[in-house]
Amino acid sequence: MTGLAQHYIAGLWRDDGAPPRPSVNPADDTPLGRYIPGNAALADEAATAARAAFDDGLWAASPRLRAQLLHEFADRLAEAKDDIADLVVAENGKLRSEAMGETMAGISESRYYAGLARNIRGSMQEMAPGQISLFHREAAGVAGIIVPWNAPVTLLVRSLAPALAAGCTAVIKPAAQTPLVHARVMQCLAECPSLPAGVINSVNENGIEVGQAMVASPLIDVISFTGSSRTGRKIMEGAAATLKRVGLELGGKAPSVIFEDADLDLAVRQLTHGSLAIAGQMCAAAARFLVHDSVAADFAERMTAGLKAVRVGPGADPASGMGALIDTANQVRLMRLIEQAGDEGRMMLKGGPLETGAFLTPTLFGIDDVRSPLVQEELFGPIISFETFGDEAEAVAKANATVYGLAASVFTRDHARAMRMSRAIRAGTVWINAHLRLFAEAETGGYGQSGLGRLHGPEGLHDFLETKHIFMEPGVA
Ligand code: NAD
Repeated sequence: MTGLAQHYIAGLWRDDGAPPRPSVNPADDTPLGRYIPGNAALADEAATAARAAFDDGLWAASPRLRAQLLHEFADRLAEAKDDIADLVVAENGKLRSEAMGETMAGISESRYYAGLARNIRGSMQEMAPGQISLFHREAAGVAGIIVPWNAPVTLLVRSLAPALAAGCTAVIKPAAQTPLVHARVMQCLAECPSLPAGVINSVNENGIEVGQAMVASPLIDVISFTGSSRTGRKIMEGAAATLKRVGLELGGKAPSVIFEDADLDLAVRQLTHGSLAIAGQMCAAAARFLVHDSVAADFAERMTAGLKAVRVGPGADPASGMGALIDTANQVRLMRLIEQAGDEGRMMLKGGPLETGAFLTPTLFGIDDVRSPLVQEELFGPIISFETFGDEAEAVAKANATVYGLAASVFTRDHARAMRMSRAIRAGTVWINAHLRLFAEAETGGYGQSGLGRLHGPEGLHDFLETKHIFMEPGVA
């Protein structure tokens, strides 16, 4: 599996002669291919192409063409799904089932927004007899889309599909860790007969130069960013100079609250997957187990056994239950955090590396101090804290005790309590007796420092639309 990931600007694949860099498989360090790093000048060129395609006006006024493109894209993703899933496994390290799941989710998302593209409507109001105001929902302009490495297919489509459906044109910047996956997905887009040149452009990263240039560009109207809260803050600062709109899907520290009446077997099943999906490198993964005192010992025993039983190994091996981390730098960073967890808390299951590759087995540690950075900060790996509570009020207080508010789950058989908890927890998504259930139709987004705005669902369009008031004086010929 080899390849060279280039830029795609104004309908052409571009290689400006910069020395290519390697992309490697985190499971075994083998080289997979190379990518051409970008620069600020290429980002400006891409923004100029996207601006011209938008200002031309036809794209933004052609909802059926936009729907057609999104269907063609979904068709091509479907044809290439095995190739793409293999490449995601090789370049990201996740399980084949996770890679196929994210590819299928991208196809579903593209078809969903193909439907919505034909249903963007404004409204009308009569202000006084014969005085009519129209409220037109129109495309916000050029969208800059910055994609992370942990789900490079789904998280691209999650921003790109609503942007295109709304009538925006786009400049995309993939993550430097997954350029080959991105180039394969871009190939699917480039092959679509309905794609006008300049509507979608993509420039590979070089450090943070390309992302910064996009955020600063006066030609880009909206930034749709998925990544860490730390970078989200920088993007908001950078966007202030041009007063750009920003949609931010940021970090999380999802608590899972387990009450005394919960089905503990169900909770263990849901949370084993819920905490270890993509080796815990998922914004909405369960990162904190909050357990009622009366079932803490029982749940601890079952959960530890559940995590221990997960076989960590290459994503391509069907026997693996959890794949590799994104790279060895993250493996080293997480191993330091495991030592810190042993010092500050009670080690319940200590994770460690395998003989080779960027692997790390799961860690569960008990901790009482909610102010510890281990509880407060996103760790982004297979390391979960185990905390306890005595009553519902304490559960709510602890669940809301971090700056994040992306997602949470509640395990109980008491429906009234489940509804109370779902209202009291300040997070964009609350799952009841489940964890990590995501749908193209269902909005996701953050409270607090987990972000601004929503993606997926009808509200996913809002970041990419403006409302224009049009008033016509009556009686003027
Ligand atoms: P990151 O914030 O380190 O980087 C994201 C991207 O931003 C990178 O491609 C980088 O090149 C770019 N970037 C960095 N500094 C920049 C700047 N100043 N201006 C413009 N661009 C800049 O995140 P990551 O490591 O790629 O991804 C992991 C993070 O993403 C985690 O925090 C995770 O929770 C979050 N995430 C959130 C969601 C969600 O839906 N809320 C989904 C997936 C991942």
